[in-house]
Amino acid sequence: TAATTTDIQDGQEAALTSKPAATIAREVARRRTFGIISHPDAGKTTLTEKLLLFSGAIQLAGTVKGRKSGRHATSDWMDIEKQRGISVASSVMQFEFRDHVINLLDTPGHQDFSEDTYRVLTAVDSALMVIDAAKGVEEQTIKLLDVCRMRATPIVTFMNKLDRETRDPLELLDEVESVLKIECAPVTWPIGMGKNFRGVYHLLNDEVMLFKAGEEKADGAYEIIKGIDNPRLAEMFPLEMEQLKMEVELVHGASHPFDLERFLSGVQTPVFFGSAINNFGVREILSALIDWAPAPRERDATVRAVRPDEQPFSGFVFKIQANMDPAHRDRIAFLRVCSGRFEKGMKVKHLRLGRDVKLSSVVTFMASSREQVEEAYAGDIIGLPNHGNMQIGDSFSEGEMLTFTGIPYFAPELFRTVRIRNPLKTKQLHKGLQQLGEEGAVQVFKPVMGSDLILGAVGVLQFEVVASRLLNEYGVDAVFEGTNTSSARWVSSDDKKSLADFETQLAHNVAYDAAGNLAYLATSGVNLRLTQERWPKLQFHATREHA
Ligand code: GDP
Repeated sequence: TAATTTDIQDGQEAALTSKPAATIAREVARRRTFGIISHPDAGKTTLTEKLLLFSGAIQLAGTVKGRKSGRHATSDWMDIEKQRGISVASSVMQFEFRDHVINLLDTPGHQDFSEDTYRVLTAVDSALMVIDAAKGVEEQTIKLLDVCRMRATPIVTFMNKLDRETRDPLELLDEVESVLKIECAPVTWPIGMGKNFRGVYHLLNDEVMLFKAGEEKADGAYEIIKGIDNPRLAEMFPLEMEQLKMEVELVHGASHPFDLERFLSGVQTPVFFGSAINNFGVREILSALIDWAPAPRERDATVRAVRPDEQPFSGFVFKIQANMDPAHRDRIAFLRVCSGRFEKGMKVKHLRLGRDVKLSSVVTFMASSREQVEEAYAGDIIGLPNHGNMQIGDSFSEGEMLTFTGIPYFAPELFRTVRIRNPLKTKQLHKGLQQLGEEGAVQVFKPVMGSDLILGAVGVLQFEVVASRLLNEYGVDAVFEGTNTSSARWVSSDDKKSLADFETQLAHNVAYDAAGNLAYLATSGVNLRLTQERWPKLQFHATREHA
């Protein structure tokens, strides 16, 4: 009988330990974490609202806008952020749809465009590209897609605003393919546009979804007519159907059929047409994200790759937002969970500092409620309050020494020199900039020759934020001025002598960043090209990994 007791105990133990494993695997499989890439005004905010509407996370459209205008007093802090309406609450929106947990990460655009926008994309598993069909591929979309390409992130494309006069759909696909270098697989196809927008034809399901303007409700079902040859369609829209059949023939002949593998490897993007403001075509993209986009995948770390369904918890910080509460100067570090299960109050190791941290007052992001979520799995984002001891790229685990890789710094495109009115504050200035640099708020370069520090950013608001934080948090009244720097590249080489010569000969244009990496500050595109040609033994990099 003793043996039986042990057997039972073993069995119970096995049940106890295998249950969390099964739960983790199930939770990971139902998660989708994505961001929206778009140029300002393409419709990102409108689409975000509609996505939340579908999930029942919000009852009426307008919530996201409401946040933009700063009615969310509890999550607005710094004056500048109040004005611009940046809030932690809309940084991550988690909602459920069709038994899936969706994490939508905000990619700040407009004036809020910054390195954060880029880095958010390193924390997602897929992206939704929104294009204004009247405008086509625009500048910011190109930049953001380049960042997605670094990790071969799968992209779903939404051609928006078909209720307006747009460009020719075939021409739009052509532009995406040639400018963005990604294969297009149209899944829906528009029937007419502007005043004559009739709906979309689903190429895979062979059905037409009829357009109705002004749909505000999530359950607003659209009439669906089966079969492109259905006589009802020919009756309703004789002209448009003629045109559609011609186009569909062209599309079948000239474009790529949808291929899940090619999508998952980032080579191909399924394309949908619709109108976000009319809530038309939105359900289809949400379905594509659920059916086709990947659940959290394996992530590379320094010692090994980490699977999302591993039991021990791990994750990394990809964004830091400051001043939740001006009185306490708190910061929130946004951590992407990479494996295991986060539980409120658990103890984890902050690997860079080698310190145990208790995660008790963690912020989580359910769009539908203010409730604190008590657990999180791979793909979820949690917010860790801290007092400035966290940096972009910091990794956390239950003890194993892993540092997640692939969290880059991007070469800045805008530059300012910084000076202070009161020279006695030099020390504070340096301390402040060091910390702000580590947080990823701005990049700081110290030229080899000369005493002015040079700040680099990708969005112009970053300088305003830094000036205001220097004043409020470090008591430094700094003046920013233009510089003749136009771009920066990190420089490396196996040839130490070349590197040393480079540093002495070009001392006026060579600088060290906050982490001690050598960088070249070019005065123009031509200057950068010539320098690269003259120093063939050096490598010039537009991104660098977190140290
Ligand atoms: P964001 O800058 O990408 O967040 O873009 P918004 O969502 O704020 O939209 C920019 C403008 O385009 C707003 O005036 C929207 O009302 C409008 N808009 C968005 N979607 C549509 C659409 O499907 N059709 C039309 N006609 N306008 C749209």
